[in-house]
Amino acid sequence: MPLKVLILGGSSEASALANAIAGDAQFDALLSLAGRTQAPAASPLPRRSGGFGGAQGLADYLTAERIDALIVATHPFAVQMRRNAVAAVRVRPTPLLIVDRPPWTHRPGDRWTSVPDMAAAARALGETPRRVLLTVGRQDLVPFAAQAQHSYLVRSIDPPAELPAGAEAILDRGPFAEADERRLMADRGVDVLVTKNAGGLATGAKLAAARALGLEVVMVGRPRLPELDGLDVQVVLDADQALDWLRHQARSPTERGV
Ligand code: NAP
Repeated sequence: MPLKVLILGGSSEASALANAIAGDAQFDALLSLAGRTQAPAASPLPRRSGGFGGAQGLADYLTAERIDALIVATHPFAVQMRRNAVAAVRVRPTPLLIVDRPPWTHRPGDRWTSVPDMAAAARALGETPRRVLLTVGRQDLVPFAAQAQHSYLVRSIDPPAELPAGAEAILDRGPFAEADERRLMADRGVDVLVTKNAGGLATGAKLAAARALGLEVVMVGRPRLPELDGLDVQVVLDADQALDWLRHQARSPTERGV
């Protein structure tokens, strides 16, 4: 019997894992997306979209669909989904893997102001009007609307529901090249970049561009992982390690009662 796998996706790691296991007879896998992006990238795995109805909803889903292994490969800032997954496997014990890609680290020449959350990021811009490139996603713009002295360039995949007053939207999706990032910042007179510390290659070029141009970066720190005590859970950094874990799960049928 193939291992029934539910992948909570929305990250490049989830896509890479989906590509790696598609067509592999060891696995019967489904990719779940939050449904935030209007046109998500194509996937070779069957897909579902939208919430489960909280932790209990996910636990019920795991039971109803007889899921053998749950993989949380959401965006590192999708905190609620991670919490729900951990809470769900406490209710319905299921081997759980969390893919937590490494955060970006400070390099020589970087001018980072590190902040714990989006409200602190907005405050860190200060009182003097600045030209700000906001790459925090379209769901986290509210604190910046209160700092109306700045002029914002907001980059997101889909159009934001509401922009800070006078802000300009750029709709684009990574991966981005450093030369393009540098051109964008220079041509548009950007003097500060605001980003979540998402980590990864797809959107990392903006940091090299800011470094080359000597621009400040307001860096929003990673939320902590939920408490994992007493759970059958492993945390890995990338899709290759996730694949190793899955293969191990597939080789242990007695552990899953087959
Ligand atoms: P979230 O706050 O962790 O999740 C909110 C709810 O959305 C969850 O409780 C769940 O609803 C549903 N959900 C989230 N991921 C799901 C998945 N893979 N499959 C099914 N349902 C899912 O996550 P978020 O609202 O998507 O985003 C929070 C932060 O992550 C934002 O800062 C956003 O910019 C960033 N982010 C997210 C994604 C993404 O693909 N989700 C991509 C890039 C950035 P129920 O409780 O009803 O199950």
